Amino acid sequence: MLEEREIALGIDLGGTTFVVGALDWEGRELASASFDTPHTKDSSVILEELATRVQEVAVGVEGRPVGLGVGIPGVVEPERGHVVRCPNLPALDDTEAAPELSTRLGMPVFINNDAYCATLAELRWGAGRDVENLLMLTLGTGIGGGVAMGNRVIRGPRQLIGEIGHSIVNPEGALCGCGNHGCFEAQAGRGAIIDMTIRKIQTGRETLLLSLCEGDLSRIDPRFVALAAQQGDDLAVEVMNEVGHWIGVGICTGIVYTDPDLVVLGGGIAAAGEVLLGPIRRTVAARSLISQGKFDPRQIVPAQLGNKAGLHGAAQLVWERVAEG
Ligand SMILES: [Zn+2]
Repeated sequence: MLEEREIALGIDLGGTTFVVGALDWEGRELASASFDTPHTKDSSVILEELATRVQEVAVGVEGRPVGLGVGIPGVVEPERGHVVRCPNLPALDDTEAAPELSTRLGMPVFINNDAYCATLAELRWGAGRDVENLLMLTLGTGIGGGVAMGNRVIRGPRQLIGEIGHSIVNPEGALCGCGNHGCFEAQAGRGAIIDMTIRKIQTGRETLLLSLCEGDLSRIDPRFVALAAQQGDDLAVEVMNEVGHWIGVGICTGIVYTDPDLVVLGGGIAAAGEVLLGPIRRTVAARSLISQGKFDPRQIVPAQLGNKAGLHGAAQLVWERVAEG
């Protein structure tokens, strides 16, 4: 008789939607579905909805679920399964999310931070599957990060390792949401790209961006800037060069702190491709000259799992525990 296949369930939890999926041992996605996150101040409503949707997805997949992993957009204590703070879903602040879900579902439940999950997924199944040490950056509204050393994602005793978005790259720079000036995130996150673009347009220069946003500057978005840069628009290329410069500076700092084999770039802004990757690599090539030899800029590569990294990493939390025994 064939042994029943084992499956890991995962949830990538966001403030507006969450994705539930089932993966096998090799990281193949067997099923996934997206749902709206309930708007509520009551944590039990959210946890009940997560449990219900997980059961729905699991029923449709052949195999025996061995556990559930959940990627949380906030600060967690993974060992206790405790959510400390969840800025986009404050109902979950200070909740015992993993034990409560485990009681509802009758299976082991593990949680970790979403950036941890994305890094773990790229390390096991994505761009980093052939290396043991990587620095991952998620370029989006904010700049998130993760660090793997010796084939494990590490966060440190206060869960700070990988918070590279708040490394200070320009002490005289713009104010960041965290209260510091010139954080990497404040210099190269979504808001910074938009501000930089609008300032340049307001000097009266010609640019494709005006037609892309139909003359409405409030519609300027990093995707438009990438699109215009890909078509050779001078102003957009200039913005990408500046953003790439700051990202490159941030990466140089990350390299000397983490000594990675590979730097992996994920998140919506990384999708700009060569127009952004080029200036990032040039900056790193010019500025990572330390005595042991410079970091090879070809080792800065795009993430491979795209917006699935969070879900796949959440499911991988289960397999990591199984492997540990
Ligand atoms: Zn900051």
